[in-house]
Amino acid sequence: MKPKTKREIWVYIDLRNERLFGLSLNVLARAYELNRSVSGTIIAIVIGSLTNSATETTTETPAIPANEAADRCLSHGANRVFIFENPNLTVPRTDIYASVVSDAVESRTPLLVLFPLTEFGRDLASRTARLSNAGLIADCVDLTMKNGRIVASCPSWGGEILANITYREDFHKTGFATVQPQGIQPVNSSGNPGTTERIPVERVAIPEGIELISSTYEREERKKLEEAEIVVAGGAGLATADAFGMVRDLAAALGGEVGATRPPVLQHWIKEDRLIGQTGKTIHPKILISVGTSGAIQYTAGITDSKTIVAINRDPKAPIFQIADIGITTDASTFLPVFTSKVRQTAMRSLTDTLYERKGADEEKISGFGEKLLKLRESHGWSRESLAQATGQSPEFIKQFEKNEISPSVSFLLRLSRAFNVDPGTFLHESEKAMIRDQRAQQFVKRTENYSYKTLTPGTENEHLRSFMITIESKQAHKPVAYKHEGEEYIYVMEGDLELTLGGKVHKLKQHESIHFNSETPHKLKSLSDKATRCLVVLYTP
Ligand SMILES: Cc1cc2nc3c(=O)[nH]c(=O)nc-3n(C[C@H](O)[C@H](O)[C@H](O)COP(=O)(O)OP(=O)(O)OC[C@H]3O[C@@H](n4cnc5c(N)ncnc54)[C@H](O)[C@@H]3O)c2cc1C
Repeated sequence: MKPKTKREIWVYIDLRNERLFGLSLNVLARAYELNRSVSGTIIAIVIGSLTNSATETTTETPAIPANEAADRCLSHGANRVFIFENPNLTVPRTDIYASVVSDAVESRTPLLVLFPLTEFGRDLASRTARLSNAGLIADCVDLTMKNGRIVASCPSWGGEILANITYREDFHKTGFATVQPQGIQPVNSSGNPGTTERIPVERVAIPEGIELISSTYEREERKKLEEAEIVVAGGAGLATADAFGMVRDLAAALGGEVGATRPPVLQHWIKEDRLIGQTGKTIHPKILISVGTSGAIQYTAGITDSKTIVAINRDPKAPIFQIADIGITTDASTFLPVFTSKVRQTAMRSLTDTLYERKGADEEKISGFGEKLLKLRESHGWSRESLAQATGQSPEFIKQFEKNEISPSVSFLLRLSRAFNVDPGTFLHESEKAMIRDQRAQQFVKRTENYSYKTLTPGTENEHLRSFMITIESKQAHKPVAYKHEGEEYIYVMEGDLELTLGGKVHKLKQHESIHFNSETPHKLKSLSDKATRCLVVLYTP
């Protein structure tokens, strides 16, 4: 039986931003290839309004104006362009657009309608096919003509196999398909004659029960993910939105971008524009750290151009290890915090080294400290104001640093280290460390004038965490009378009775009792027993 359809291949063109428009041109290229065997007409389907929105609700027009899109489609493979117009079509909605496409399909009966395989394209294709009561071939990577029938190659069984699918022989209606837009470049057909038709849509069926309140076109960001040198990608193995935050933390510490497999996108842990793979973005970073991803072919399709792939997965048999350069078999939730902390420490160390290199060399030379700080701040997604607030400085002060106009003081470095949540010691040059050690040593001498003091961790008297035993003679007070210092203190009474006056409050501790307190609060100790009181003290000073 002769087909009842016209020899037309339609391609839906997404105008929402340059990236999506580019994907539509790729599908147009796929149609162009197929048309070599079909010898029909390729028609680009543009939906929208040439005029600005008549509704009060839309504040911006699409990123690609319909007129411009039409011209570009004609020079990239389309023979004709249909612009379906109605003021109610300015805001792309699959529920509304589906009825426009299916009405047009009913009146013109094209052979095939292709949609780019994006979330929107997939949704629109399935709704339209349903309204047209027609067959939809999903996710095809190639389209060919065999024995007069269209055959689509589609990944099946989770990408394990490529299945060839066609429309039934007794099916003489329009066929629908979503097409993988990666792996093909737009064709250049400039100079070919082509026409654009503006088709007013008389009636737009607005679904009942839903009212659009407002809508704005999201500005497309710079191609951050595609251009990034470092990408940290998270997968379903992260298990929760909170845990996915660890991927963000690591990316920030490395100054990289965050990507994801499909499950985190579906779970709304991250936006769709961060999806990597067959239906997402193709990346080519110097380093990709792929965390909790199994290595499904649809994902790895987007990462094979990465120079070095580091895979973190708790399953040693995960397929991702087959393409990884470095594989780490571990639980992401325990590994990531430690790894991120090390990375931060290294970043801070490098910042400090830059500073001291400059001090040792030509003072006038641009040090690079400012640039590094700027990069670090931006990678953490902090505004200048938020870093200023976290370090107790003014935004102007931070700006001067970033321009290398002033040299940072030790106290600023210490505050920075706290803001970035790293060990302050990282920031200190040996001379400053020595200075602080000296100060601590002097305090140590002063402290021990009044009681015998024996450290349990020799050599760590000047470190952040120290433990020691103190002995306070019977019925004697611990002198100096009141003592306070930054940090925390823990006291365990080993022998005797202790009286601890903490701020205004008196605590009486017997043998084997302990107390943990903020040592900024003035505190003094006294032995209440007839014998000497011996205590174990652990001090933490930041
Ligand atoms: C047509 C089509 C197109 C598709 N397009 C894409 C696409 O573009 N991009 C994409 O990503 N997917 C795509 N998919 C989905 C794809 O097939 C996979 O389902 C998806 O990539 C799997 O994501 P995942 O690796 O994060 O999850 P899973 O496959 O579930 O893997 C999770 C991994 O985490 C590991 N894990 C679990 N807990 C931990 C832990 N605590 N620590 C460390 N590791 C842990 C597990 O061992 C497992 O290997 C597509 C599918 C189809 C059919």
